[in-house]
Parts: sequence; C-alpha cells; structure tokens
Amino acid sequence: VAICENLFLNSDERSELWRRTSDAVDAYIEGVRDLPVSTSVEVESIRALLATFDFDEPMKPARALDLAVSGLTHFQIHAPHPGYFGLFVPAPATMSIAADALAAAFNPQLAAWGHSPFAVEAEAYLLRALGKRLGFAQNASGTFTSGGAEANLTALLCAIYSRYPEARESGVGAFGRLRIYAADGAHDSIIRAARICGLGDAAVRRIPTDPRLSMGVSALLDEIARDRQLGVTPVMIVASAGATASGVIDNLDAIADAASAESIWFHIDGAWGAAAAIVPEATGLFRGIERADSLTLDAHKWLATPLGAGMFFTRNHEALASAFHVNTPYMPSEAVKQAPEPYQNSLQWSRRFAGLRLLLCLAVAGWDGYANAIRRVLALGQYLCNGLLDAGWHVLNHTPLPLACFSDLPAAIPSDQSRLASIAASVQASGAGWLNVVQLSSGRWALRACISNMTTTEADVDRLIAALRRARHSHDAQHPRA
Ligand SMILES: *Cc1c(COP(=O)(O)O)cnc(C)c1O
Repeated sequence: VAICENLFLNSDERSELWRRTSDAVDAYIEGVRDLPVSTSVEVESIRALLATFDFDEPMKPARALDLAVSGLTHFQIHAPHPGYFGLFVPAPATMSIAADALAAAFNPQLAAWGHSPFAVEAEAYLLRALGKRLGFAQNASGTFTSGGAEANLTALLCAIYSRYPEARESGVGAFGRLRIYAADGAHDSIIRAARICGLGDAAVRRIPTDPRLSMGVSALLDEIARDRQLGVTPVMIVASAGATASGVIDNLDAIADAASAESIWFHIDGAWGAAAAIVPEATGLFRGIERADSLTLDAHKWLATPLGAGMFFTRNHEALASAFHVNTPYMPSEAVKQAPEPYQNSLQWSRRFAGLRLLLCLAVAGWDGYANAIRRVLALGQYLCNGLLDAGWHVLNHTPLPLACFSDLPAAIPSDQSRLASIAASVQASGAGWLNVVQLSSGRWALRACISNMTTTEADVDRLIAALRRARHSHDAQHPRA
C-alpha cells in the first residue's frame, strides 16, 4: 500500500498520471472543435456517472481521471469551442493552463508576503504593468480576486471605508442612507455587493440608459441632486466598460465629470471590455478611465486565462487597507515593511496564485501578442455584425466591442422573447454554435452573440449565421407570423 493510502502516488504512478493528464488536455484542445458546442443533457445520466465513484471502493488513478474527462467532455457547454458565442468564457491560452498546474503543485500561499514573496510581488508587478498599459494609472495598486463580482464588491468596500473609516468600528448604519448609482444594464453583482454590505438592494439607484444603451448622464445628475435633497449620501458611481448584455461602453469621461464634481467614488466595471484598452488604437474608447478611482478587469474573460482570475485596480493606495486591515497575531508579521501584507488588503485570506496565469501568458505573448489577438477579435466582431445585417437581422446595440444583440423584427412585439429563445435553442441543438437571448435595458429582447474565444474564425462566424438562418426558417415554418 502506498504511503498515505494513495493520496500521494509514487514516482512511477506519478509519471503515468502526468502523461495521461497531459494527453487528455491535449486531446481536448485538439478535438474540441469536432465536438458539438453543447448537447442537451439529462441530469440522470450525470448522476449515474457520478454514482460510479464509490468511495468505499477506491479506484485506480487512471480510471478516476478517465471518468472525470468523460464527465467534462459530455456534460458541459464547451466554451473553448470556437463556435461558443457566449458569456465571455474564454478558450484558455496555453501558457495559462501550464501556469495553473504549476500553481497547484507549488501551492504558494498568497495571504502572507513572507510565505510567497515571489507570487505576491509578481501579482503587484502585473497590476502595475496592466494598470499603466490600460491607461488607468502610472502606479496602480490592487489585488487579484476570484472574479469580477468580488472585484466590484471590493470597489464598494473601498468607497465606503475610505470615506468613513469610523464605520469599521460602528458599522455603516451610523452614517445615514448611502447610495450607489449604476446604469440599468450594469452587472447585478453591484446589487449583491450592496446587499452584502448591509445597505440593501434599494441602495443601488438604477439609472435609465439612453437610446444607445449607455448610462444617461443627465439622469444620473438628477438622481444625485434628488438624493442630496433627501439627505441620502452618494458613495459610488459604477460605469460599465462593456456591459454584460449589450457590450456598451458608458460615457466614462462625462461620468468622471459628475463623480468629481460631486466627490463620489468612481468605479469602472470593465470585467470583459476593458481588456480592449490594451490595443493602442482602441484606447480612445475608454477616455476617462484615467479618472476612475477603481477598475474591475477579469483576466479570465478576454485575457484568456482559466476561470478564477479577476483583478481590482485602484489609484488610492490606502483604500484596500481601509476596508480590509486587521491585525492578526498568528499571521506572520510583515516581512518587509515596504510591502503590504496581502491578507490585510483583500477580501480573500488564503489565496491561490491566479496571477501566474497572466504572468506566463504576457511573458510569452507580450503586449503585442495580446494586442494582436484582441485586435483580430474586434475585427471579427465587425465581420459578425456585417454578416448579420446581410442576413436580414437588425443589430440593436451600438458598441465597438465584438458583441451583437439582434432580432429580425423591426419593432418590439410581445412574442419576441419566446420566438428568439426558440431560435437560440435550435442553434444550440444543431451543435454548430452557442448563443443566448437577453433583455436589453431598453426592454427589448435580442439574440446575443459575443466573440468570447480568441480562436474563433470567420468560418465559425459564417457557420453561426447559417445556423441562425436555418433556425429562423424552421421556426417560421412552424409558427407562421400573423
Ligand atoms: C462577468 C462580469 C462580472 C462578474 O464577473 P465574474 O468574473 O463572473 O465574477 C461583472 N461585471 C461585468 C460587466 C461582467 O461582464
């Protein structure tokens, strides 16, 4: 019997396991294009597969691995497939996959600088470099997060506690009613952040969008003025740089004007879209980013790392500590006084080395590699829009980012939602592509196709448009329009 009852395998077993693992990874990367992007699944089949894991009867490592590969192959929507036009889930870049394996094996603990100085310094180095490249700040600080939702919550905590340090002791209730402003199309993680902070969902004031689906700035100013009269204190404005449903970039510069005139924390949620600021000729789309107090960007969306790599940037170096600092005697004390302790500056305590994924990708591709890949996806977004227009669809959103919301009905009709959902479902069932249906902040329903995957090509876009045409025809044959 191996040491520790097979929890730690011997050298021969390990070699065999690594070989099988890398073979499985490579077979997936090579073969994913030939799988259907998604299939309909019965939960019973998944549970039957899981029931073969009998923990009273341990199995061989190879069999356990094969079962996991089988479950992942058969029972998921394949975001790494180039026909996935979905919710920003990328095909992970190769170096980021290797990085994730290294991080698992070396298991650096990022709570304390002294435990993993290389990993902690690497993440700070990345945040500074990226903050500068995006035009956000010459010397940004921040933290890696589990994703955009945690980064947005971090922004709210920074906004509150850097303004009201005493609230750490007394709680936020002592400071009257606080308000957060976000457009109708802003990500709902803002709502949850308000709830987690004990402010309640109603603390988020939804600002109506203008006809271009971006935050109405005069409506924003009106709401702020009304709140001041009511004695409600504005604490944060959230602008989207690439809203989730529509891909629209708010007017960051005008919102920055409002935030600075009113001394309100200005946060930009660029979880997906802000990555485009890496491309030099696209920086104009994000004018005003240099005036934000904080920024959310997910490496695990358009920077193509595996899930679990978000980033929060701020130019206010004390803000994170104002929200998170605690003195914990059992934690190793600050090894180097000029380096902040991560656990005192982030929501997470023990933390995985998510930054390694981005470090190795940037090391090998460089800024140019990322800029070229993103530029190609931006052009492909144009190609997608043009193809949809040629095929008789109306594109309902206005964004330079590669995300199209579209319908073939010139005006809203009540049955849009079910009709479009049925078209999306038959595209999905064809296995040729995956897209979904969204309701825009204008109230209209639309099919939504986003180029989430850097490996998607023009041929994949053509296939999607052909599948859409077939789906529309067969739907209309079955449900003739009145
Ligand atoms: C995806 C997304 C989020 C949430 O990020 P997670 O990484 O899923 O936690 C927040 N805001 C926007 C604009 C997003 O697109």
